[in-house]
Amino acid sequence: MGAFLTSRRDSPTDDEHDPEGPTLAFERSQSQAMLDQSRQHLAEIDAALSRIATGTYGRCASCGGDIALGRLQARPHAGLCITCAGRVR
Ligand SMILES: [Zn+2]
Repeated sequence: MGAFLTSRRDSPTDDEHDPEGPTLAFERSQSQAMLDQSRQHLAEIDAALSRIATGTYGRCASCGGDIALGRLQARPHAGLCITCAGRVR
């Protein structure tokens, strides 16, 4: 009985595949997605900065109306007012 349990525990069980492979690939794609997201975020911030430079910051790029202050506080790089942003999606 004891010998049976020991041999079960010592046998190479279900880890025949490389456990690192799929995990690394998954993490790599996750990192790539995060990187893409950050790049897009940076582009939006860049656009916001250039709007500050041209004096159009806080103005909706679509309808030309003011972007609500609360929205700018939540999304400082917002280029559309809440109405237009909702319409795009
Ligand atoms: Zn608008």
